[in-house]
This record gives sequence, structure tokens and C-alpha cells, in this order.
Amino acid sequence: MSTLPLLPDSSWSKVLCIVAHPDDMEYGASAAVSMWTRRGMEVSYVLLTAGEAGMAAPPEETAPARLKEQQAACASVGVSDLSILGYPDGMLEPSLGLRKDIARTIRQHKPDAVLTANYEVEAYGGLNQADHRVAGLAVADAVCDAANPWVFRKLVEEEGLAAWTTKALLVAGHDSPTHAVEIDEVGVKAAVASLQAHASYLEHVTGHPKPEDFIPEILRGGGEAAGVQAAETFRVFDMGGLEGK
Ligand SMILES: [Zn+2]
Repeated sequence: MSTLPLLPDSSWSKVLCIVAHPDDMEYGASAAVSMWTRRGMEVSYVLLTAGEAGMAAPPEETAPARLKEQQAACASVGVSDLSILGYPDGMLEPSLGLRKDIARTIRQHKPDAVLTANYEVEAYGGLNQADHRVAGLAVADAVCDAANPWVFRKLVEEEGLAAWTTKALLVAGHDSPTHAVEIDEVGVKAAVASLQAHASYLEHVTGHPKPEDFIPEILRGGGEAAGVQAAETFRVFDMGGLEGK
């Protein structure tokens, strides 16, 4: 297997991470976020749902608890800009409304890159969760929508949001990665802490391995693929300027 190239992200100043649930960023992607924020890059998180259907407790209790845990997870990797679009957890539908909401947020943030999570039918060693499949594909489509002034014209006409071309789309947790972000010792620890922040959620999941037991291992595996000590890998799509074009 050939060595994965490092992501050409040195000129980037902003990454927008859009995923379905609280904790979706915390299975490796947050390690890359830690590297970026310590370099001075601005990173924002947008969650499509509050993850309110993910625990045994009623959604009214779960949503605020998971928000707190996500805020702590964000803080451990230097992220303070967190928003939740409020779609119903577990019932995310592929719709133009969802794409428009994501395109809006991309045009508002004007990121160099958009990061989302794996949207394949099979992922993470099994059948991928329904919201994950919808979220990732909607994000991929919305990156294109955000760049096209003739799609969702009301975003321009009524909200004054001009078209925005994102340089690259990054898909975390993909079985066929194309690029890697090297992670240092601090980044590995921050990634572990970011998943540990979801304490009540992890307690709820029967048999969930301890973050400190498997996150460093995932990052070491990525490092092996990239020829470095530790790395987070991504499947990267050039959307209009990955190599500074
Ligand atoms: Zn999830």
C-alpha cells in the first residue's frame, strides 16, 4: 500500500465541520481539529440534530445534557463556535430543505474546507446509522449548492448570502482515505479528552470501549498509513482549489 499524502492545508484559515450528532466528531476527526486550532485556524461545528434520541432518558433531558457534553468536547480541541440546526434525531431525511440549511451555513461561514463524516451504507465495521447516511450526503451536495448562485436563489435575494466555493470536502471515518493530517502527542490526548467529554452518552452505550483505549490506536493506524507516528485520515474531494488552484 502506498503512503497517504498529508493534506495540503497550510494556507487554510477556516474549517467548517458539519455532522449529524453530538460525538460524531470525536472518533478521530477532533484530533485534526486540535492540530488546526492550535495553529490558529478557526474551526466551527454545526450539528444537524441535538442527538436527543440517543439515550435511555427522555429527549427533553437528553438534548441539554448532550449539548453540555458537546461544548466540553469542543473546548478540549479549541472550538468555541458550536451550533445545532435542530433536525429530529434519528429521523433525518434527505430533503432540499436540509440542503438549503446546510448551504446557508456554508455561505455564512465561508470555510476553506467542509468536514463531514462517512455517509456510506456500510461504515465503522457495520451498517451505517440512518442519520449518518443522510447527513454526509446532504453536506456533500450542499457544498456544491453553496457554490452555485442559481441554486437556492432566495439565499442571495432575501438573505444576501453570496455563493461560496469551498476548496475541499473532507470525509472522516472513511475506509478508503486519500489524505492524512499528522497528529502530535497533544492532539492525541485532546482527541481522547473530547470523546471522554461525552461521559453520560458513553455510559449509556453498552460495551463502548474506553476512549483512552482505542482513540490512540485509531490515530496510530492512521499514522502507519501516512508514514508518521499518528494521523487522522480523510477521504478528500477537491471542490475547487485543494492545491491552491
Ligand atoms: Zn452519530
